[in-house]
Amino acid sequence: MKKQRCCSLGDHALLSASSSHRWLHCTPSAVLERSKEDKSSNAAAEGTAAHELSEHKLREFLKIKTVRPLSKYDSPELEYYTDVYVDYACELISEAYSRSSDPVILVEQRVAFTDWVPEGFGTADLMVVADKTMDVLDLKYGKGVQVSAEDNPQLRLYALGALAMFDYLYDIETIRMTICQPRLDNYSTCEMPVVELLHWAENELKPKAELAIKGEGEFCTGDHCRFCRVRATCRARADRNFELIKMDFKKPDLLTDEEMAEVLVRVDELKRWAVDVWAYAEEEAIAGRKSWGGYKVVQGRVTRKYTDENAVAGAIIAAGFKEEDIYSVSLLGITALEGLLGKKQFKEILGDLIIKPEGKPTFVPESDKRQEYNPAMTDFK
Ligand code: SF4
Repeated sequence: MKKQRCCSLGDHALLSASSSHRWLHCTPSAVLERSKEDKSSNAAAEGTAAHELSEHKLREFLKIKTVRPLSKYDSPELEYYTDVYVDYACELISEAYSRSSDPVILVEQRVAFTDWVPEGFGTADLMVVADKTMDVLDLKYGKGVQVSAEDNPQLRLYALGALAMFDYLYDIETIRMTICQPRLDNYSTCEMPVVELLHWAENELKPKAELAIKGEGEFCTGDHCRFCRVRATCRARADRNFELIKMDFKKPDLLTDEEMAEVLVRVDELKRWAVDVWAYAEEEAIAGRKSWGGYKVVQGRVTRKYTDENAVAGAIIAAGFKEEDIYSVSLLGITALEGLLGKKQFKEILGDLIIKPEGKPTFVPESDKRQEYNPAMTDFK
């Protein structure tokens, strides 16, 4: 049976740990999101497959009975990156054994944080309690957005759930929360004393959760809108974006550099909003649920394709052509080869044959974590 990763006593928690970043910033969002069907994306389904395979591998490592899951996402890449996560988790477990002869290790553990969040439940990927420290490890299989463990409410909620389970048994003083995002080579850890976590839970989390469960509080737009289910139709977001557009430019006819800089800081969010609105309108129109004045649905342009590749090959060979004339062979990509050989052997055999070329200069907001590109330094090198 397939396991639901984010769950409540029912199917899904209204105030889930995974969406806490959003409902903590914008408390009415959780109730509003309920009005929109939760369509699991391809990326989410791939993430579930990665978690199920990782759980299986970790259970094997811990010598717990397990059956290897099968999924349509099985591939050398999935194999490789789940191995990277499991290696990381195993190191964390070994380190716990170096501190305590009897650590508590829980894989894909359901936790409840209902003392602070009404009906709040979730599933933590790995929790390890050893000595006075508890580790909470979360696998992020996505590679679209780099996730940090700093100020990460999802990890804090798992930690609170784990504390509710163990605090009366163990004298836990420190929580160490880690994000493992192997496809971005991102490993981020944040340590927090238990007293600080509990202070945050009582003074920030609990009051906001009480508003969020009732759909009350102030709408607040920001980066957290990105995965909100109502991001295309949310009035607060539309109002905010129209406010951004209403810029009061005076003469001369061309924008000054200062005005251009002002436009640029607004453009990122406006682009995202436009894409969301377009995707929503398109989906509704194609499904036949809505029509929009000035727009219609047509059939897309198509290219020719074979009905049966084997039959095509057979027909060409029968016509006197050779196999080498009609098939092309290409080398596997770096990630797939690394998955095939394993990291160690890959490095031994191909280490000298892999280079990392300079990235193309890319224009990004100042908040981007990458170091500023300096052409003079590159020329010098
Ligand atoms: S789109 Fe943004 S502002 Fe609107 S409900 Fe969602 S999180 Fe709140």
